[in-house]
Amino acid sequence: MQFEEMLAKYAELIVRSGINIQKGQVLCINAPISAAPLVRLAAKSAYGAGAAEVVVRWSDEALSRLKYDYAPLSRFEEVPEWFSAYNNGYAAEGAGFLSIDSADPDAFAGVDPKKPAAWVKAVHAVCKPFYDSLDLGKNRWCIAAAPSPAWAKKVFPGETEEKAVSLLWEAIFKAVRANTPDPAAAWEEHRRSFQQKIERLNTLQLDRLHYRNSLGTDLIIGMPENHLWAGGGAETTDGVYYFPNMPTEEIFASPDKDRADGIVYSALPLNYQGTLIDRFWLKFEKGRIVDFGAEKGYDTLKALIETDEGARHLGEAALIPTKSPISEMGILFYNTLFDENASCHFAIGKGFPECFRGGLESTEEELKARGMNDSAAHVDFMLGTPDLSITGYTKDGAEFPIFRNGNWAF
Ligand code: ZN
Repeated sequence: MQFEEMLAKYAELIVRSGINIQKGQVLCINAPISAAPLVRLAAKSAYGAGAAEVVVRWSDEALSRLKYDYAPLSRFEEVPEWFSAYNNGYAAEGAGFLSIDSADPDAFAGVDPKKPAAWVKAVHAVCKPFYDSLDLGKNRWCIAAAPSPAWAKKVFPGETEEKAVSLLWEAIFKAVRANTPDPAAAWEEHRRSFQQKIERLNTLQLDRLHYRNSLGTDLIIGMPENHLWAGGGAETTDGVYYFPNMPTEEIFASPDKDRADGIVYSALPLNYQGTLIDRFWLKFEKGRIVDFGAEKGYDTLKALIETDEGARHLGEAALIPTKSPISEMGILFYNTLFDENASCHFAIGKGFPECFRGGLESTEEELKARGMNDSAAHVDFMLGTPDLSITGYTKDGAEFPIFRNGNWAF
């Protein structure tokens, strides 16, 4: 298939299956200028589906970098009125929000971290109506990717820029199943598979999971009472289903922060704040990391684990089969949207309130008492291998195979 044809299929997929744009709806697109060809096709697809208007806000990493380097901190502490009016206004109108991610993992290396931190904080304060509207399921949103030359070169350093970009496109198309004859049908099937597995896991209410593989992983994690597994897509309050992340493969829950015993070995390198941590292991006792080691990036791992007490405990356990397009490619994308979907992973750090029944209506103290971890960190690392086995046990000791040979056992 010609590249243009694939790109159009991809645009259609993220607008129809991702955002699931409805007649009369406004679509807001946030994209880097390098993604203009994709954005034009996405706009065309949205209008084709009856969108009232497509509004695009362009960005450029080179300009953002200049601002970080030269603008004073005070310019990041205050958000101009137009910015909050844009987000809050369109959210109130019921718009869909599509973001195209092309980030160069090294674009902001060496930037004073106070500046991006101040900006995030200021935006969250003045755009609260926007974020609340998204959190409460009033607006649909989707994050999808498009290569930028810098990102592509990071993923394929040995290739020319042109070749690297083309290889990254190919990988993205594969990851989101845009290379299948009917991508929308493939995602419909994907959705059914998510729902079936989540339902089964939530009904089982496992008390603990035992992970084992030939790398040496032998770890039992405890699951909180009334935990919920989640993943796949979501539904807005008007009952329209959408996929906030494209791709997505993971089904995840938050384990009990005080119940993990044994050792886990990393299966893929972890890129943390620009440094690669590789071939590392973590030893747990009563949920706490009591020892660790790494062949590469030991100091960075140590700094991460010493972020705060919560960074010594688990906040997420995610199940991803090796029989998935991203796993099968075996590429390190340097982008969470892809890498967290590459293999079964844990996150050390903050847990998810939505992974506890009634969690979204609970206080932080209540969630902590139920076993949810809290931390300033939330960092995923991959542990899944083709020989990973996970066995679940209920409170009364009944045994259920969850993963065998790196794949779903049911
Ligand atoms: Zn995850």
